[in-house]
Amino acid sequence: MPELPEVETVRLQLLHRILNRRIKRVEVFKPKSVADNNQFAKTLIGKSFSHIDRIGKLLIFHLVKEKKIFLLAHLKMTGQFFFHDLTGISGGGHTATPNDTLKLPGKHTRVAFYFTDGSSLYFNDLRGFGYVKIATAKEVAGAKARFGQEPIADDFDTELFTLTLKRKRAPIKAVLLDQTFVAGLGNIYVDETLFVAGVRPTRQANKVTEKEACAIAQASSEIMKKAITVGGTTFQHFADTKGARGNYTNYLQVFGKQNTPCPRCQTLIKKIRVAGRGTHFCPTCQK
Ligand SMILES: [Zn+2]
Repeated sequence: MPELPEVETVRLQLLHRILNRRIKRVEVFKPKSVADNNQFAKTLIGKSFSHIDRIGKLLIFHLVKEKKIFLLAHLKMTGQFFFHDLTGISGGGHTATPNDTLKLPGKHTRVAFYFTDGSSLYFNDLRGFGYVKIATAKEVAGAKARFGQEPIADDFDTELFTLTLKRKRAPIKAVLLDQTFVAGLGNIYVDETLFVAGVRPTRQANKVTEKEACAIAQASSEIMKKAITVGGTTFQHFADTKGARGNYTNYLQVFGKQNTPCPRCQTLIKKIRVAGRGTHFCPTCQK
């Protein structure tokens, strides 16, 4: 499943390619992917994208001279965007295999956008949980309001973060995965963050000290920024929009490292389940 750094990577890549190209035609192969909106194509024809924004893992496409409607996209489990022009295909989200781009539109293409200059943008989604849908400004504001602050935001409020933790009784891992509290931290990056901060994933959030809370906030920000710089992780299924594989996997210290020595103290990394998710930690370094 693409996490925030992967989604941000897709955003940055599409940003350089799709802006200001005029939409000539839109083909919807799976109505569910556009929220069963039979006006979807009609609404977009003649329009151009002016900007792509993101909150958590939700992509918000702005349209030129259009303040009332937006295009919202979520990759969910297996969503991908591929942009095609004379220079080739670039794309990303869920891991791209050569088969994904062999033929576009392909078997898993749910929506295709054709631009007047001959280039095109495809939304592929194998499992079909993702979407691209038209949303009003009010709906966008509502969606934004459902997300907590982002660790990579310049104005991340560590004090608020610490205070909120004090009110949560769930395991710290579950709390950090809650997007209404902190936006964009997924399974991989929560495990990595807690390792760097030295906090055990099972610890009750309200028992986390102020110092540890600060360490968590700082570690999550650094890890996410680093992951975005290198294009995210790839295993399971991610490639960036150039089809290149991200390589944050090279920097992972505990995720997927069960039964191998901790990079700090050599204790074997343990894998357990917390909040229904595979969770990795060092029993010695993380208290
Ligand atoms: Zn250790």
